[in-house]
Amino acid sequence: MEETCDVVIVGSRLAGAAAAVPFARAGRRVVVLDRSRFPSNQLSTHLLFPSGVHEIQKIGALDAILANDPVKSPWVSIQIGDDLELSERWRPSGDIDYCLCVNRLIQDMELVNAARRAGAEVREKSRVVKMLWRGGRAAGVRYADAEGNEHNLYAKLVVGADGRRSTIAQEVGSFRPYRASRNGRGLIFRYGKDPLVNTRAGETIFQWWEGDSLSFMFPSVPRGTALILFMGASEEVERAKVDPEGYWAEKLKRHPRMAKRLEGVTDMTPLMSTNTTSSFFRASSGPGWALAGDAGHFKDPVIGQGQRDAMWSGRVLAETVAGVLDDPAELDQALRRWEQKRDKECLASYHFGNLETRVEAVPPVLAEIVRLNSKGVKPDLSDLYGRARSMPQVLSLPRLTVGLTSALVHNDSDQSNRELIAAAVRDLKVHLGVRRELRRQRFRNPIPLTGSEHGNAEPPAYRAPAPVRPAPAAESATPVQAETNAQKPSAPEAQKTPEKHEVNV
Ligand SMILES: Cc1cc2nc3c(=O)[nH]c(=O)nc-3n(C[C@H](O)[C@H](O)[C@H](O)COP(=O)(O)OP(=O)(O)OC[C@H]3O[C@@H](n4cnc5c(N)ncnc54)[C@H](O)[C@@H]3O)c2cc1C
Repeated sequence: MEETCDVVIVGSRLAGAAAAVPFARAGRRVVVLDRSRFPSNQLSTHLLFPSGVHEIQKIGALDAILANDPVKSPWVSIQIGDDLELSERWRPSGDIDYCLCVNRLIQDMELVNAARRAGAEVREKSRVVKMLWRGGRAAGVRYADAEGNEHNLYAKLVVGADGRRSTIAQEVGSFRPYRASRNGRGLIFRYGKDPLVNTRAGETIFQWWEGDSLSFMFPSVPRGTALILFMGASEEVERAKVDPEGYWAEKLKRHPRMAKRLEGVTDMTPLMSTNTTSSFFRASSGPGWALAGDAGHFKDPVIGQGQRDAMWSGRVLAETVAGVLDDPAELDQALRRWEQKRDKECLASYHFGNLETRVEAVPPVLAEIVRLNSKGVKPDLSDLYGRARSMPQVLSLPRLTVGLTSALVHNDSDQSNRELIAAAVRDLKVHLGVRRELRRQRFRNPIPLTGSEHGNAEPPAYRAPAPVRPAPAAESATPVQAETNAQKPSAPEAQKTPEKHEVNV
């Protein structure tokens, strides 16, 4: 018997669960396949700003997550050097005016539970090994269950929500990004027990800048746990692996304000780290398939937007196409519209991440904007992270002009005014470029934005699924099995961009 459903989703974390819920609520038969068994962990610092928490709420997972008693963080504190501090409350997204940082074991389990409650069938320990094609369209997937038995599952739509090393991206010929940027910073982090839990400091998301070195601290779960993170140059990851405690002590010396905040923190876990976090866009839709979440687009974790955007892209995908699944032509058009929407939603943040991952001190113009706006606690600059407004809205041209003028008047840095203007012009070109791209909305624009994208990007390498037991003989006679790769559509159009426009990946 051929098994069929309306939608098969590969991956059941942020993007997969967020897509499964609206499809199921629309009455569609949804099967979600994940090779993990939940609860299952994932390397991440898992901070969610209010708009990300709001996405969790939309999926219907928030109450269960809040039952774990996580600290709600209504405050953000950005400290630059030893004399500059911006302290703001978050602007609410819906009725959510706080951040959460819930570890992935708990969070992702609750996402799976929410997908099941909505009516989706989630099959754990189910590893997709191959896409099935019919008449040039994606028609389903072949997957191996926990015992290694293979099954074919047919659907009107295949959603790859299977992360950066997406099997579905590989199968549809879209693995190679059409646009990418190398990260400058790496992540080195650990958890500790925070004595200041239940105080304002214990409810604050801290960000410290010491020259070009960046660090963070935020409350996590269980209550009383804090996540402590350094994001220095990506090369630091290798140093931290060789001598973890030596590295940690050296960084704390460089970060006296953070060291003060860490006084009394105990029970530090071993360090976790990575420096392979290049950002990218992949062609993310085609006949009968879509790539949601990290599978289609990844941005530098320095700005902590990945989870929110993964959920946003999964949810909006389902909302856009659930009503047209039965008409292939309409479905493909809707998929393309969704990809355009996703790019519009994520483009400014992608560039913001590329700016923040440069291993440089806060640009004087931005530091000046922080200084000029550091008096009140009302949400403003924090919108850059909270996503209530986009980067062009928060860093408006008049505001950048005032920042530059003030930086020149009060210049007490090592830079001459001439150098300061040169740096400001370089960044201004990026800000103008982002506005231009948003205005033009060119589909799958492969042209890098000078000053934002960094060359030699290294998107994660594809790891082919391990071989599974040969399929039962009867299956190889099914019509789909009779199809060959020749029936696959050719690579998505973005893969065919001229060499000169391609970023070196
Ligand atoms: C070090 C680091 C720190 C980060 N910190 C933050 C942060 O603080 N805040 C934030 O918002 N974002 C952060 N991110 C980004 C965030 O983790 C991702 O954006 C998010 O996990 C993407 O969710 P997803 O559902 O698209 O993919 P994933 O979370 O990667 O889930 C993909 C799922 O697909 C399954 N899968 C893969 N292949 C197959 C297959 N062949 N068959 C079946 N199942 C398969 C996997 O088992 C997995 O469960 C960080 C990322 C990194 C690397």
